[in-house]
Amino acid sequence: MAEKACKQCNRIVEDATECPVCKNNDLSESWSGLVVIYDSEGSEIAERLEIQTPGKYAIRTR
Ligand SMILES: [Zn+2]
Repeated sequence: MAEKACKQCNRIVEDATECPVCKNNDLSESWSGLVVIYDSEGSEIAERLEIQTPGKYAIRTR
């Protein structure tokens, strides 16, 4: 299973060619770190990564 990360919002995208959040199709296979956001409101990590939609996100993309 190919997991890629959106270069714009860091969202982990599985078996798709575009990001479901921002519709960006610039996905990277070189990413590291994984964070799961359940509730984007009140989450320090979500705030730091500027995440508005719950889901799986990469910490870093290249
Ligand atoms: Zn995105």
